[in-house]
Amino acid sequence: MQTKAYAAATAKAPLGPITVDRREPGPNDVVIDVLYCGVCHSDLHTARGEWPGILYPCVPGHEIIGRVTSVGNDVKNFAEGDMAGVGCMVDSCRTCSPCEHDLEQFCAGPHGFTGTYNGAAKGGLPNTFGGYSKQIVVDQHFVLNVRHSDDQLAATAPLLCAGITTWSPLKHWNVGPGKKVGIVGIGGLGHMGVKLAHALGAHVVAFTTSESKRQAALDLGANEVVVSKNADEMAAHADSFAFILNTVAASHDLDPFTNLLKHDGTLTLVGVPEHPHPSPSVAPLIFGRRAIAGSLIGGIAETQEMLDFCAERGITSDVEMIAMKDIDHAYDRMLKSDVKYRFVIDMATFN
Ligand code: NAP
Ligand code: ZN
Ligand code: ZN
Repeated sequence: MQTKAYAAATAKAPLGPITVDRREPGPNDVVIDVLYCGVCHSDLHTARGEWPGILYPCVPGHEIIGRVTSVGNDVKNFAEGDMAGVGCMVDSCRTCSPCEHDLEQFCAGPHGFTGTYNGAAKGGLPNTFGGYSKQIVVDQHFVLNVRHSDDQLAATAPLLCAGITTWSPLKHWNVGPGKKVGIVGIGGLGHMGVKLAHALGAHVVAFTTSESKRQAALDLGANEVVVSKNADEMAAHADSFAFILNTVAASHDLDPFTNLLKHDGTLTLVGVPEHPHPSPSVAPLIFGRRAIAGSLIGGIAETQEMLDFCAERGITSDVEMIAMKDIDHAYDRMLKSDVKYRFVIDMATFN
């Protein structure tokens, strides 16, 4: 089947409309009309060729909310008319140890997990195409139930990547009541990190390079805000965190953050900047047995758990709606940290 989509033809080209092939739906497939798609910084890294191995044309988008239009005969949890979500993965081997433990993001099969875009497509098609499109066909295992109310749907889309990418490490490193947690970079991921850590009952310290976000970070649920360029403000938190989540999308010095960890504390990186961070100093790691770790999105079951947690508490993303044709302008604003806090494409603007 064919669908309209918005694609980058090359790393240098602005995005524009194309028609792409989706596989013919099989017995396990869910066909979804895309209503909203969040704009992740990974879309920008990918479309503009900042990461290696990008296949063009490239249709980004992995924060998808849509309406189910049809389901295959073996589909159990979805029916025509349901709201559905699709995040960063659309397939994996299902049989390796990580897949069997609901950690599809770490699939150890021959090809790893299949990304919603820039992945290996089934059915002889060239590569997967993401949510900047009118329709998508996804195996039922990778489709999420959406229990937010209709008026929250656009603001729910960013939970499919920004939400789960912050939720998973917060849970893994046991963030909760009585714990002090740092969230670095108050962009799409970081603002969800603040909201979710607050909802989990932690004492949240937001780190931003933007003086203008000081009040906004408090409004999102932070207990304290540190402008990270200010050495005095940073020094006040030295040796005080068991866990800091760093969401920054650009290369930067990590040492000022490792120095804020207590002994045995962990600085977890989720940002994937185009250029590597400067090598961290070893001394702050050795003295205190501190660790620098990484985290990748989250499994499908964990994504459903996060979506349901957010639906019960009315948690959504703070979004700015855009038309499909304005995507390159949105990318340029994202590069200037000028977004509060996630752009979401209204697919009704694209026909
Ligand atoms: P975003 O909305 O652009 O937010 C990034 C934030 O980082 C900015 O708002 C800014 O916050 C801060 N920042 C930007 N440039 C900076 C600089 N030069 N120095 C210090 N801080 C800077 O991006 P996002 O969508 O949240 O994504 C963040 C990163 O995570 C991207 O690299 C993305 O590819 C990656 N990602 C990883 C995963 C994963 O599974 N690991 C999943 C999704 C995304 P302040 O204004 O507050 O400083
Ligand atoms: Zn993403
Ligand atoms: Zn696997």
